[in-house]
Amino acid sequence: MNRQECWLSNCPNRRNFLKATSLLAGSAVFGMRDAPCCEAAASQPAEPTGEAVAVVTIRGHHLFDRLDALGTGKSSHKTLGPIAQRIRANPKAPIKLTIGVDDICAPCEWWDHEKSLCKRSIVKYPQDNENSLTSDKNAIHVLGMQPGDEMPANVLYLLIQTKVDKKVFAEQVCVACRLVDKCKETYQSKIAAAVKALCPTQPK
Ligand code: SF4
Repeated sequence: MNRQECWLSNCPNRRNFLKATSLLAGSAVFGMRDAPCCEAAASQPAEPTGEAVAVVTIRGHHLFDRLDALGTGKSSHKTLGPIAQRIRANPKAPIKLTIGVDDICAPCEWWDHEKSLCKRSIVKYPQDNENSLTSDKNAIHVLGMQPGDEMPANVLYLLIQTKVDKKVFAEQVCVACRLVDKCKETYQSKIAAAVKALCPTQPK
């Protein structure tokens, strides 16, 4: 299965298919051979007919925070690690994008549910929560998506790999984060490993 076939085999419902093909249009992922599939998808029923898979809600900047865990399957983080494992076990799981609390923050010991913020570094780095919200918005924006949009995880990470290179990551997504200079050095290898984990038969 090649990169294109990986995506096509995970065609989501018609609405999300059209959204994803639109976002990926013009990238190296698609070519002229996609036309028949696009036509076929346009005639698909509006909703998927297979077994429903639970939606995973992820804030924009966590798409990038969990790259390492997606690629390696390992994480010491108590709530991020299990979510990454869940996605690795089911790469077609739909991911719903959000800004602020998500399925990783909500069960985390550091999340303050009353104030809706992360307490972890709030004394030493009081700007962290605001910067994280900025990164959430930036991440969703560079993908051409909106809060509430859903996409299968493997398709979403192909989209990320297509749209976000090291420069975009550092200058448009995590630009406000105090850790960006360190993270940008490993970004390319981590996104490649994550895509490979979610779509293992795709050529490099
Ligand atoms: S609450 Fe803070 S430490 Fe916990 S997952 Fe969210 S951002 Fe990370």
